[in-house]
Amino acid sequence: MSAPMNGGSPRYNPLESMNRRFDAAVEILGLDEQFANVLRVPDKVVMANMPVTMDNGTIKVFEGYRVVHSVHLGPSKGGIRYSMDVNLDEVKALAAWMTWKCAVVNIPYGGAKGGIKCDPRSMSKGELERLTRAYTLAMKNVFGPENDIPAPDMGTGQQEMAWIVDEYSKIKGHNAWGVVTGKPLVLGGSLGRVEATGRGVMVSTRSALAKLGLKPTEVTCVVQGFGNVGSISAKLISQMGVKIIGISDVTGGYYNTDGIDVNAAIEFIANSPNRNLEGCNIGKKVSNAELLELECDVLVPAAMEDQITPENAHNIKAKLIVEGANGPTTAAADAILQEKGILVVPDILANAGGVTVSYFEWVQNRLGYYWTEERVNRRADRVMKQSFDNVYACSEKYKINMRIAAYVVALEKVSSTLKLRGSF
Ligand code: GLU
Repeated sequence: MSAPMNGGSPRYNPLESMNRRFDAAVEILGLDEQFANVLRVPDKVVMANMPVTMDNGTIKVFEGYRVVHSVHLGPSKGGIRYSMDVNLDEVKALAAWMTWKCAVVNIPYGGAKGGIKCDPRSMSKGELERLTRAYTLAMKNVFGPENDIPAPDMGTGQQEMAWIVDEYSKIKGHNAWGVVTGKPLVLGGSLGRVEATGRGVMVSTRSALAKLGLKPTEVTCVVQGFGNVGSISAKLISQMGVKIIGISDVTGGYYNTDGIDVNAAIEFIANSPNRNLEGCNIGKKVSNAELLELECDVLVPAAMEDQITPENAHNIKAKLIVEGANGPTTAAADAILQEKGILVVPDILANAGGVTVSYFEWVQNRLGYYWTEERVNRRADRVMKQSFDNVYACSEKYKINMRIAAYVVALEKVSSTLKLRGSF
């Protein structure tokens, strides 16, 4: 991986960033500290050490987590991340973000997140299967269609979800499709789920451009990260007529003022041996750090946490930032972006299209009745548009930025549920 991405750097702590925004929302709402304290800590933290036999016959022990932050609105929901950067604070922050995200888009879920410290790119399919099954076994009393429902995140996808549903179903003795979302179609997946996060980013971008009085056909956009979220965001945003002038992945950034052919880049990756943009002739090579500071109207950070920091926030030239990744901006950078007058559509709103369609998948699993792609997209677009308008209205009501407004919308919902439910 090229150097500039600083995700996982001990210099920044996503949990600290999450807490600072949470505290700001607590203050705006005048929320009783007793209730705030309940939501400051996760409901449950489960850690497992999982011995896995590697292809060469050796046994390696992997560290895995599942953090359930809240179950106040419904079963907890959130992805599973496979990365060497996984650590408990990061998983705690990501779990809390899932609580706020589900509340912002008004779906009946709490929040959770899982993570395994591993390098999936260096593991064989068999090793990944054994690790995923070991993790499912370790979490068999945490997961469940009515309890806690995982999904893909960084480093995981449909195949891992298929192994989880299979292992969990074997443990329980019946097919339990609803235990996980983001499954392959033939195993109870939903049409539209793969594209859902990127599609939501596109809908958020469209709504924000309208608020700024900018026409899609007259603006340029840079997308950081070209995985599931980044590549599909770039594709759908370019279909709106926006010119994509910069993209990046682990091999670095690619810049072209004439516009990048996003479909060609996606095709290049599909056929490249390492599944990356290395050698792709689509533009001038820039570093990931330079990419964020390019002259453009819209910036979509869709890679990982802590990319926009007090060190580079001053140099960002975009008028609009739409956060495809979770936590790409540190709390300290928020103030700088606000001072510069940049409109930020925060992660817990902008990338909520994924969990929204996860919810639709789970609903379809419960009904045993499957929707058309058109129906999935139409409903997801409606949820994203309505949620954007709610958060925007909240930001105008309290005269706050959209990030804090999203936390206020979420916290208002979760805390009122908490009060109604009571405590021991
Ligand atoms: N990992 C995705 C997220 O961060 C999706 C979670 C889900 O669908 O449960 O939103």
